[in-house]
Amino acid sequence: MTEHRPVLAVIGAGPAGLAGALAAAARGVRVVLIDSATEAGGQFYRQPAKGLGARRPQALHHQWRTWERLRAGLDTHLAAGRITHLSDRHVWCVERKSSGFSVHALIGPEQEESVAVRADGVLLATGGYEKVLPFSGWTLPGVVTAGGAQALLKGGLVLPGRTAVVAGTGPLLLPVATGLAAAGAQVVALVESAGPRDFTRRARTWAGAPAKLAEGAVCAAQLLRQRVSVMTRHVVVEAHGTERLEAVTVAALDSEGRPAPGTQRRIACDTLAVGHGLLPHTDLAEGLGCRLDGPSVRVDDEQRTDVPGVWAAGEATGIGGSALSLAEGHIAGRSAAARLTDTVPDPREWAPAARARTRLRSFFAALDAAYAARPVRWTEQVTDETVVCRCEEVTAGAVREAVGALGAGDLRTVKLLTRAGMGWCQGRMCEPGVAGVAGCTLTPARRLLARPVPLGVLAAPADPTAPQ
Ligand SMILES: Cc1cc2nc3c(=O)[nH]c(=O)nc-3n(C[C@H](O)[C@H](O)[C@H](O)COP(=O)(O)OP(=O)(O)OC[C@H]3O[C@@H](n4cnc5c(N)ncnc54)[C@H](O)[C@@H]3O)c2cc1C
Repeated sequence: MTEHRPVLAVIGAGPAGLAGALAAAARGVRVVLIDSATEAGGQFYRQPAKGLGARRPQALHHQWRTWERLRAGLDTHLAAGRITHLSDRHVWCVERKSSGFSVHALIGPEQEESVAVRADGVLLATGGYEKVLPFSGWTLPGVVTAGGAQALLKGGLVLPGRTAVVAGTGPLLLPVATGLAAAGAQVVALVESAGPRDFTRRARTWAGAPAKLAEGAVCAAQLLRQRVSVMTRHVVVEAHGTERLEAVTVAALDSEGRPAPGTQRRIACDTLAVGHGLLPHTDLAEGLGCRLDGPSVRVDDEQRTDVPGVWAAGEATGIGGSALSLAEGHIAGRSAAARLTDTVPDPREWAPAARARTRLRSFFAALDAAYAARPVRWTEQVTDETVVCRCEEVTAGAVREAVGALGAGDLRTVKLLTRAGMGWCQGRMCEPGVAGVAGCTLTPARRLLARPVPLGVLAAPADPTAPQ
């Protein structure tokens, strides 16, 4: 007779998913690790494509030793058959069954064929994605997201251009600017809409997180060495170019968060890497009916969602960096291993991870508050001609007309009247921008499927198989 070992499907092979998979596999659970990327690592430890033959991938990374430990742990469990890694699989739905779950994933870059995996429990470690707000000229070739520029560099070993401006707001801008400069781009400006006084007010909080403070200091020293001009309390108001990006106009913000008259200045560049923070990936959790807290999946102290058998960890539960993702993943993996074998876990066993989680959550809450301390009235700068929904090519003017002339009062009605958010991305990219221009509250979208799915797959989804 073969022994029945419970199966945990871990969706996402970033820091949270890897930590969860290792913790669960080490405690007797069979893990299926599913990720849309071809290599494990997630966003923070994004690996160069194998064919590129990178000799020193660590040159583009921080905390490489942690990655080496995760990689070695994964290799050990893979070799022992405790973890199966299904890479290049895009999970489009997790179905609740009378006994367990079916995880449905589209295969490879074509995403036309689907497979399904049977599992007793699910750990959602799907990370976050970038929030990008529209401005005049943002659709020009040469304007990329800050994380996109980082992904090109880490995953493709290429620079998006030679002369770059990094702009927007949030801590991600710092590693992006230093990373681009270290790889040989001339980073002419880092344009951040928050100001130093938003941070100095919280000096006591920063003093309680010396490691994070040191990280910030290293970044600041690198920016200084790389001669990057740091412009705080500034924004990019327009990107210029005919065929592609040629320059940007930046302006200082006044006390109301509007570009101050007379402060505009043009900076020549061929790349604008822009981002306005990160948002949690919650599609799969929403499809399962998990409760959200604002934009994040709600979890308890064991990282359990309110749906039995479903855990969540990392940036899907709130944006907080890779160290927090590791701590949460570890706790989730240990809790799942116990619960799936009908044991009540003892939280004392993961006390160090729980302490790190508490410390890092409060650090990132303070960081969020600092970045959001003073509003930026960005919607006033968006001209009527600016495309806000790129998939359906809907302009800000059309959105304003839907609200002003046609009486739309919520995002859903704006969508029905203009098609904004009905395209390939299903509003994932444009929703914050459309909501801002429309003056509507951004509410969770409750998308049934996490990916566009061919009709043939929907009509005949694959039968779930247990891991071999
Ligand atoms: C674009 C981007 C770039 C970033 N760059 C940096 C940086 O340079 N420095 C830094 O300090 N922090 C960076 N961050 C933040 C950092 O990535 C996180 O702090 C950390 O990686 C979060 O870990 P995680 O495990 O929660 O999620 P992630 O590392 O994001 O991992 C989530 C994984 O889930 C997979 N996934 C998501 N949905 C599905 C699905 N439906 N099916 C299958 N797989 C799925 C993704 O492919 C990904 O591999 C970046 C974030 C983003 C979004």
